[in-house]
Amino acid sequence: MTVVRNTRQKQAVLQALRTTRTHPDAAWIHTEVRRELPSISLGTVYRTLEALVQGGVALTIERAGQATRYDFKHGEHHHHAVCQSCGAIFDIEVPRLPVAALPGGFQVADVRVEFHGVCEGCQTK
Ligand SMILES: [Zn+2]
Ligand SMILES: [Zn+2]
Repeated sequence: MTVVRNTRQKQAVLQALRTTRTHPDAAWIHTEVRRELPSISLGTVYRTLEALVQGGVALTIERAGQATRYDFKHGEHHHHAVCQSCGAIFDIEVPRLPVAALPGGFQVADVRVEFHGVCEGCQTK
């Protein structure tokens, strides 16, 4: 039974993450998933998210002093622009990066590009 429940929890977390482009934190996902699974704990959500990251299905966006945000890996590789004012995270399509500029023999495990700045909405405040 435990396995079935875990699978349901995993599916619910995955569904919540897949259907948003807001790059939520674990607390937001917890709120979403609880609509379907009222008894799920925040700890379970964290562990499930961690398992999704380990499994290469999701990635994290970590910034000092703020909750880790999660992102479903939507097929194509994308990068992020982070608003330093409101914390919004936007998906950015970037052409292939110049990996030829890397030191010889360097093996790339992960590529992350983050643009930091202020979004349009915050500029007009
Ligand atoms: Zn902003
Ligand atoms: Zn993203």
